[in-house]
Amino acid sequence: MRCPFCGCLDSQVKDSRPSEDGSTIRRRRSCPECGSRFTTFEHVQLRDLTVVKRDDTRAVFDRDKLYRSINVAVRKRGIDPDHVDKIVSSIVRQLEAMGENEIKTSDIGQRVMDCLLELDKVAYIRYASVYMNFTETKDFEEFVSKLTEPK
Ligand SMILES: [Zn+2]
Repeated sequence: MRCPFCGCLDSQVKDSRPSEDGSTIRRRRSCPECGSRFTTFEHVQLRDLTVVKRDDTRAVFDRDKLYRSINVAVRKRGIDPDHVDKIVSSIVRQLEAMGENEIKTSDIGQRVMDCLLELDKVAYIRYASVYMNFTETKDFEEFVSKLTEPK
């Protein structure tokens, strides 16, 4: 596994343990080059899913990419990587349960937003700003004001 910090292609597994329900193996790794530590998760994927992007191009669904995109949003919010992994697992299960082989990125994005809204408002706004492609301050302001309006 490539080190995400220095790009070194080698990393050592320090600790490896299954999740409570046994559906995931969590590995703590360390990089022999730069000494950084990081966590990887190993899962079963039941179906091959294809993601259809906004410009209509297609790509193989990448669970790690989804994990990373959520991880960026929750950075420094004190949220356990296990929790992020659980969110990803639940989204993947929902996607698999849809029974479609092709899934729109907007559909995945909406599911992530729903999960983050419950978890952490800051992470939610961060994710939304990327997902909804905010370009100006007023995009942010409009979005946040909708968020704080009483329903
Ligand atoms: Zn490294």
